[in-house]
Amino acid sequence: VPSLVPRPPRENKALPVVLEANELGKVYRERSLFGRNREVVAAQDVTLTLHKGRTLGIVGESGSGKSTVARCIVRLIDPTSGGIRLAGREISDLSRRRLRPHRKRIQIIFQDPYRSLNPRVSIGESIAEGPINYGMPREQALEKARQLLELVHLPADAISRYPHQFSGGQRQRIAIARALALDPDVLVADEAVSALDVSVQAQVLELLDEIQTRLGIALLFITHDLRVAAQICDEVVVMEKGRVVEQGPAGDVLTHPKQAYTRQLLEAAP
Ligand code: ADP
Ligand code: MG
Repeated sequence: VPSLVPRPPRENKALPVVLEANELGKVYRERSLFGRNREVVAAQDVTLTLHKGRTLGIVGESGSGKSTVARCIVRLIDPTSGGIRLAGREISDLSRRRLRPHRKRIQIIFQDPYRSLNPRVSIGESIAEGPINYGMPREQALEKARQLLELVHLPADAISRYPHQFSGGQRQRIAIARALALDPDVLVADEAVSALDVSVQAQVLELLDEIQTRLGIALLFITHDLRVAAQICDEVVVMEKGRVVEQGPAGDVLTHPKQAYTRQLLEAAP
């Protein structure tokens, strides 16, 4: 088990802001069988800033609202309140149609790669799908898929194979390649390494770090595992019951936490 060693700090230069969430809130309304509606306040006043070329972590125990924030940011769900600015433009109130040109600039990968990969679609087709949908000629999109497979260190012949022919770690690499096919500014990884064995986890983390640095994208890395967060994040936001309770450089927050909640998370980490 890797110890909690924060990633070495990178040069402290002024980087452009790619995405901002401002006082984001999400209330789920559940209709119960007995007529009474139940409200779950899953996120409240969540403000965070992603910079180009940097990795921001969201950490917190299960149920603290991390995935809710992720789903709001990529507009899989609509926030109840607050704003989301992408490259300076407010996108939280755009209709689906008007969102489309912006939507491709933020991509998400999940714990389960099959949430992004269709088992009946070949790897090449799967990676090329996004660019084709946005108007890229098929041959060019498949060439792009080849380059992306190389970027995620998979063999070239993977292009004509299917997801089940790969291991869990390799499937996550394929999901990463697919997410990168539209040249996003932001990649959101929601527990993307949480289901993997520790050694495979380390390889996928290394890949994400390498890609993030090489492509200069902003990575929003979500995990309940503080050790994993320490390995990859420049900064972290700590969430408790839907709220941000602490944030700052990963090295500070994860080695000198100010909040009791963060200290508890660290103590509970294996
Ligand atoms: P995390 O990713 O940190 O585990 P989530 O964002 O998944 O947290 O969940 C935050 C809270 O919102 C939890 O109490 C969870 O039960 C609730 N929740 C999540 N999704 C839904 C949903 N679709 N409907 C109702 N409640 C939900
Ligand atoms: Mg989650």
